[in-house]
Amino acid sequence: MTVEQSDDTLRAPETIVIAIDGPAGAGKSTVGRALAARLELEYLDTGAMYRAMTFAALRRGVVEGDFDEVAAMAPTVDIDIDHDRVVVDGVDATVDIRGREVTEAVSQIAANPGVRAVLVERQREWVGRHGGGVVEGRDIGSVVFPDANLKLYITASPRVRAERRVREIGGNVDEVEASIIERDRRDSSRDHSPLTEADDAVVVDTTGLSIDGVIEHILRLLP
Ligand code: C5P
Repeated sequence: MTVEQSDDTLRAPETIVIAIDGPAGAGKSTVGRALAARLELEYLDTGAMYRAMTFAALRRGVVEGDFDEVAAMAPTVDIDIDHDRVVVDGVDATVDIRGREVTEAVSQIAANPGVRAVLVERQREWVGRHGGGVVEGRDIGSVVFPDANLKLYITASPRVRAERRVREIGGNVDEVEASIIERDRRDSSRDHSPLTEADDAVVVDTTGLSIDGVIEHILRLLP
């Protein structure tokens, strides 16, 4: 065996990070989970972390509008995400973080730079611990992992996104569409890490595409 061959054998496996960003309800989670399963990577839903922070803020009675109080709370919140189960300060919040109260308040909590600093740090730490992963959110390719191996920006028309949400969780399609448009507006217009396409992201519009079609398309993009 030559020296180069033995060096090759000793080299640590490459850390693969796939960043998935995009507006609410575009199919990021479905695509992210399927991609992670196909590539045998772990999957991280960073939206669940922002939702968990919001759950904690509501539970602790921290005034949403008070930036300093929310920022001071952020490092003290214990968030444990194990696949789909989310435990916040020892309380199972898996169902509540998807409820109306958290969904309506989350964009405001996520706009707080103190909250973002804490969660970005935890997201990087999570990826380091898992040796890579498929990471989904709003600022993953632009801020959290600017050197990701592949950056995807997954989108779809607001109407299609609302129709998918209604099929999943019920509700009135016009109301769900209005709420999705409002959340997109808040997420895209905030000062800190707004929802945006990274310059080198591949845009995938899932309007009119099947999930299998989307996955096959993305797998062909992998380096
Ligand atoms: O992905 P999901 O819709 O669950 O995200 C909930 C909210 O969390 C978003 O509307 C956004 O305000 C915030 N978020 C964020 N940055 C991320 C992930 C989510 O600001 N990386």
